Amino acid sequence: MSRRRRIYEGKAKVLFEGPEPGTLVQYFKDDATAFNNQKRGVITGKGVLNNRISEYLMTRLGEIGVPTHFVRRLNMREQLIREVEIIPLEVVVRNVAAGSLSTRLGLEEGTQLPRSIIEFYYKADNLNDPMVSEEHITAFGWATPQEIDEIMQLALRVNDFLVGLFLGIGIRLVDFKVEFGRLWDNEQMRIVLADEISPDCCRLWDIDTNEKLDKDRFRRDLGGVAEAYQEVARRLGILPEGGPRDLKGPQTMQ
Ligand code: ADP
Ligand code: MG
Repeated sequence: MSRRRRIYEGKAKVLFEGPEPGTLVQYFKDDATAFNNQKRGVITGKGVLNNRISEYLMTRLGEIGVPTHFVRRLNMREQLIREVEIIPLEVVVRNVAAGSLSTRLGLEEGTQLPRSIIEFYYKADNLNDPMVSEEHITAFGWATPQEIDEIMQLALRVNDFLVGLFLGIGIRLVDFKVEFGRLWDNEQMRIVLADEISPDCCRLWDIDTNEKLDKDRFRRDLGGVAEAYQEVARRLGILPEGGPRDLKGPQTMQ
């Protein structure tokens, strides 16, 4: 496995060439970054947990008809995915005010929004992922108006489903970020959910205590980061066998 050709190394994951054309292997690292790489750290076991959590959520979403890039999990830290042409947007769906929305609009964190709000950010680390409008997206050709419509519909379906799923395990889905890509089947192009869905890119608050169970624990130095991710996995019923001791997982990549 370590002989696979490395295609891309990002902040949280590494992409390797997959076993067949059109596939990739996504390796989940323990590295954590925040504020566009200004803050860095390692959260031991995070990669194993995110691999599991993303597998679980993508599978459940696939079952309700949301097209995703996920094929199957290969081991503790790797999953097989379909290679897509990533649309260079971070699509954020918000249900409750937090983070940059609270700062920008002066809303107290935790304020329920009048309805779910979708925001687009241009994926460009060197520019700090600036927020963009549909005008920018179409003018610069990042996506067509039809693709934007499809992305928004998918994002809202993902949101509706995940809000319910998390509510069932006592967690409030405050907001999350997803990425979409283009997948060609012969001449037909489909927009599919790509990247990952994990506590790295969601805000998850305990419904009773408002305790944060996501990457804000790392961003804000709250401690107990790995424990929070573990708690999410535990409530989803997918804590790796052997429990937390297993979380370092095999180091299949060096
Ligand atoms: P980054 O630091 O760019 O966010 P990550 O560490 O998250 O990178 O690694 C994942 C990278 O792979 C991201 O750039 C993401 O857009 C890309 N990606 C995710 N899913 C797919 C896919 N199915 N096909 C191709 N690229 C993908
Ligand atoms: Mg990323």
